[in-house]
Amino acid sequence: GSVFSHVVRAPEDPILGVTVAYNKDPSPVKLNLGVGAYRTEEGKPLVLNVVKKAERLLINDSSRVKEYLPIVGLADFNKLSAKLIFGADSPAIKENRVTTVQCLSGSGSLRVAGEFLAHHYHQCVIYIPQPTWGNHPKVFTLAGLSVKTYRYYDPTTRGLNFQGLLEDLGSAPSGAIVLLHACAHNPTGVDPTIEQWEHIRKLMRSKALLPFFDSAYQGFASGSLDADAQPVRLFVADGGECLVAQSYAKNLGLYGERVGALSIVLRSADVASRVESQLKTVIRPMYSSPPIHGASIVATILKDRNLFQEWTVELKAMADRIIRMRQQLFEALRARGTPGDWTHILKQIGMFTFTGLNSEQVAFMTKEYHVYMTSDGRISMAGLNTKMVPLLADAIHAAVM
Ligand code: PLP
Repeated sequence: GSVFSHVVRAPEDPILGVTVAYNKDPSPVKLNLGVGAYRTEEGKPLVLNVVKKAERLLINDSSRVKEYLPIVGLADFNKLSAKLIFGADSPAIKENRVTTVQCLSGSGSLRVAGEFLAHHYHQCVIYIPQPTWGNHPKVFTLAGLSVKTYRYYDPTTRGLNFQGLLEDLGSAPSGAIVLLHACAHNPTGVDPTIEQWEHIRKLMRSKALLPFFDSAYQGFASGSLDADAQPVRLFVADGGECLVAQSYAKNLGLYGERVGALSIVLRSADVASRVESQLKTVIRPMYSSPPIHGASIVATILKDRNLFQEWTVELKAMADRIIRMRQQLFEALRARGTPGDWTHILKQIGMFTFTGLNSEQVAFMTKEYHVYMTSDGRISMAGLNTKMVPLLADAIHAAVM
């Protein structure tokens, strides 16, 4: 017998498991709205043109080698990533108060930050929104932090529970870490307004709560990279400290390249340099150094004015297609006279709509209509296309009747 014969089967990941189930479904007409990955109007994955161009430039550059990157990754990539999120003329960058390390996409950036905080920060409790991306509690718990939640979503309004959020952060212990979705909150699609962000900032600074932004969708919410970075920049502008985990999975379509960055904004260049030295001691025994290809693609695009400009156009096109899907789904439900208020489909922001459908209704839609989504009723608008809108609308209509 195997020395591992006692090992029990682990449950499927609740998000990635949706795709496993979808792939097993033999139905010729089926729809996967589970995973947050962009699909074209033809339902196909998209490699951005600007990424193909950057890859051609890299291949034709004979000076390029496949040597190891430093522990902290590609220097150009790190500098440009910080500029992208904090703004080209950010005083924090100019004053060398930011340390940026290349990590394995958004997830890896969260994990490296979590382990650094668990070892070097005095308050090992992190508050995450309720609900949040399903991986957050696992990443932070395994990193050694104690995870608590703050109220975020109000199911009755399908909007922000702003009062609950302020109360929960207001009663958090001084110094606690607070995870904030920089924009396009996953799974709810509900973001604070800029006035509400300012309110949150004041409260957090008054209690010395440590902001930790998860920025997985910069550019995907509004179609503008700068507009989507506004909440982060608001917190950096007051001179205080914060952390930011950036992902290029969605906004550059580099999902499988696993390219992202962790930036920590500090009070002084001296602290920043010491913090970076400790980030290296987290990374080295975890995976030694990050991969070179994805970061080279990103750096090539970010440092070239024309490629950058092309990227913003392609990014806007993706964001606009998602917004069109919101309008089409809303109209299709209205045309069917589906009971209920569906205006949240239009109001929510980013890749996802938090439909308000419960797990039984979701199971019904999967069984009867071959429409796949997470059991919390979250649908990826980026996975929808015009041809499939009637199927989804029929499924929702039947589920709520
Ligand atoms: N954070 C949030 C809120 C997400 O939705 C995701 C992806 O779905 C991630 C982080 C991490 O994604 P990745 O590790 O692919 O960059």
